[in-house]
Amino acid sequence: MANALPHSLLNGAIVPTNDARISPLDRGFLFGDGIYEVVPVYAGKPLRLSAHFDRLQDGLDALEIANPYSRARWAELVHELIASNGGGDMGVYLEVSRGAGKGRDFLPEPDMQPTVFGFCFPITPPKPELLARGIAAATLEDIRWQRCDIKSIALVGPVMLKMEAKRRGADEAILVRGERLAEGSSSAVFVVKNGRIATPPASHERLPSITRLVVGDVLDALKLPLEVREVRRGELPAADEIWIASSTREALPVTSLDGKAVGEGGPGPVWRRVFDEFQALKQREAG
Ligand code: PLP
Repeated sequence: MANALPHSLLNGAIVPTNDARISPLDRGFLFGDGIYEVVPVYAGKPLRLSAHFDRLQDGLDALEIANPYSRARWAELVHELIASNGGGDMGVYLEVSRGAGKGRDFLPEPDMQPTVFGFCFPITPPKPELLARGIAAATLEDIRWQRCDIKSIALVGPVMLKMEAKRRGADEAILVRGERLAEGSSSAVFVVKNGRIATPPASHERLPSITRLVVGDVLDALKLPLEVREVRRGELPAADEIWIASSTREALPVTSLDGKAVGEGGPGPVWRRVFDEFQALKQREAG
């Protein structure tokens, strides 16, 4: 991820990123007690903002944190934040923690005031070399918790998994729970075999990825059916294509898995069609 842009959002105000301060007693810091979102922005316009707000609300509901803002206020703040950083292409990170207490009780104090922090970082289109080569992934056992559907700020599991993937020469970890594909350490996963495209269904084991919805719309536009079903670990090395998808990386081809070529070892033809249509969708919706 690129460096933070100069302006941030802190509790309703746009402030210089370097001057933003929160209490060390904030429960986000002490307990990882909060949720976050990452929204892609193209030409100053957020893509699927309302889906990101839906997921943010679901996370707050799961953690029993009252949403500090209405939808309209959130949208206003996000647009102010984007404008303060000059518009263009960027990722917007939004975090809501339960707020700062008087000490460090596990049980939250009543009537806590959530802390809201947001910052932006530049996103650039994937480089031609990356698109030509694809990425390497490593299959790792999912060591995270049982509520991966919540976009929790407690991310030490994926941090450890990313470090392990890097040690194995990979850019992403593809996580399995026993024989079942879970998801990427920070991405949704699609597999293609004999022209059939599959991705696992929503469950507590995976984040409801917004990019997965976008890829679903892209596949609809291409009239390519998507099978939403459990994917077995054994299908991964046998796949013709594997893609990962996330808000900041769109859909990228995985061309090597655990050091072995996926399919022909290069980005596959189905991914190429998805990539092109994804760019067209971005232009239509946000460009
Ligand atoms: N799964 C996990 C665990 C993630 O962290 C992410 C994104 O960070 C995704 C899936 C993809 O979600 P989205 O498409 O909403 O970015």
